[in-house]
Amino acid sequence: MEQLWAPWRMHYIQSGDEATGCLFCEAASAADERHYVVHRGLQCLVMLNLYPYNSGHLMVAPYQHTGEIAALRPEVGADVFHTAQLAVRVLDEVMHPQGFNLGVNQGEPAGAGIADHIHLHVVPRWGGDTNFMPVLADTKVMPELLVTTAERLRPVFQRLSAE
Ligand SMILES: [Zn+2]
Repeated sequence: MEQLWAPWRMHYIQSGDEATGCLFCEAASAADERHYVVHRGLQCLVMLNLYPYNSGHLMVAPYQHTGEIAALRPEVGADVFHTAQLAVRVLDEVMHPQGFNLGVNQGEPAGAGIADHIHLHVVPRWGGDTNFMPVLADTKVMPELLVTTAERLRPVFQRLSAE
């Protein structure tokens, strides 16, 4: 079976954390703009995927650096899922998708682009959008588009997370 999030994994070699070489650990301490972080929760952050399956493709990444979902501390796992719910609500309001895919790829054989650090993909879906897969796969979205998307999502994350 073709992996839903696999096509861009070969590209994810962008600069990571100095010590761990990990993108998500770097994003945890860098400025929001550097990695298109749109929300920071208690135990995890939300950032845009640079190689999105769809516009609005988000990743929820715990601050805990682990490649195994079973190793996530309970409060971290709970906050990741809670934050995924928040991400769904934000995308619903901003982009009005007709459905969602949420998923974790654990390990490189499963298609994990960054196997050392678990992250949950949240992908908004619209009817017929699979037609765009061949176009988007392996295609890096223009940074301007990512900036615009991040700017649309941040205030809604801020408002809905405060409710
Ligand atoms: Zn990490």
